[in-house]
Amino acid sequence: QVRNFPLLLQEALKNARAEVGNIRVIGRVRPITKEDGDGPEANNAVTFDSDDDAVIHLLHKGKPVSFELDKVFPPQSTQQDVFQEVQDLITSCIDGYNVCIFAYGQTGAGKTYTMEGTVENPGINQRALQLLFSEVQEKASDWEYAITVSVAEIYNEALRDLLAKEPQEKLEIKLCPDGSGQLYVPGLTEFRVQSVDDINKVFEFGHTNRTTEYTNLNEHSSRSHALVIITVRGTDYSTGLRTTGKLNLVDLAGSERVGKSGAEGNRLREAQYINKSLSALGDVISALRSRQGHVPFRNSKLTYLLQDSLSGDSKTLMLVQVSPVEKNTSETLCSLKFAERVRSVELGPGSRRTELMSWSSQEHLETGSVQTPSSTR
Ligand code: ADP
Ligand code: MG
Repeated sequence: QVRNFPLLLQEALKNARAEVGNIRVIGRVRPITKEDGDGPEANNAVTFDSDDDAVIHLLHKGKPVSFELDKVFPPQSTQQDVFQEVQDLITSCIDGYNVCIFAYGQTGAGKTYTMEGTVENPGINQRALQLLFSEVQEKASDWEYAITVSVAEIYNEALRDLLAKEPQEKLEIKLCPDGSGQLYVPGLTEFRVQSVDDINKVFEFGHTNRTTEYTNLNEHSSRSHALVIITVRGTDYSTGLRTTGKLNLVDLAGSERVGKSGAEGNRLREAQYINKSLSALGDVISALRSRQGHVPFRNSKLTYLLQDSLSGDSKTLMLVQVSPVEKNTSETLCSLKFAERVRSVELGPGSRRTELMSWSSQEHLETGSVQTPSSTR
């Protein structure tokens, strides 16, 4: 009885958090880089409030527009600053929570920098695994933990295992036969990691796997969703109690709009798949935040795959990446609108429901002509 008390408390806390809603939207503005050039197009178009770190101002075609998110990281923010903000979210998967962190934004806005980072300045993926290791080690006297990693991508709505040793058929998402309602992906490699060295090996292997298949990795990676799925399984030595938490780290495909007129063939097909899945993600998060009965998880591979980690008492963070320069303001505006829409949904049954329902999947596709990304990364 006494033993179970912390558990009950944990349950209560979980429920309380679930009540409040666990979806946060944070912006990150990248610095101006050499690749932005030195013409007027590369002028800065983004400003901040010194007394409110949730606000971002954008100068779009001479008109100022402001947005309020949960927080906005200005260009001078470091990888560590960003990580500090997401740390608690990450460690909560040790307690059995499922967590999703998405990087959203146009190509070149800094999604991969935030998630993967560089060798000198690693991003969330690497830092998350390192933190999980050290936290788990601290609990090692009472709990036994196993941490596994899967690396996958979704391209044209096909799910591919990037840790598979042999090239394989595309993977299917299936309902567990035990009637639990849980989903699983038969055949998806789960690699047990036990050291920082293991982590590096896993990421390297996934990277090589992705590179060999495509001649232009940068182009390919901007058109596919890259997923790192970390599972933490714990067993309490004394009670035998088990927990499982999943941390899903997703570097989304570029959100830039591709007009129907400008693209054809493969490029158009890719664009349609991206539009479809990003809209589906927005729809799902909206539906979850507004507590609609029906959440359209099955409208895309991504949301279907992550269903377990988006619903219930799961926690979601949308990191909206933004380019600061003038030539990107149209896309920046779209990204910030996406961010605000995902965020500003009222909790509880509200009057805005109809408005939300009309957030159709068309938005990404129908506007504008082909936009050239600022960089091909
Ligand atoms: P995306 O993945 O969204 O296409 P990248 O992460 O590849 O964008 O970023 C584009 C370029 O900007 C890269 O050269 C990257 O190193 C640089 N960059 C992005 N964010 C930052 C940042 N916060 N600090 C320094 N450089 C950055
Ligand atoms: Mg990228």
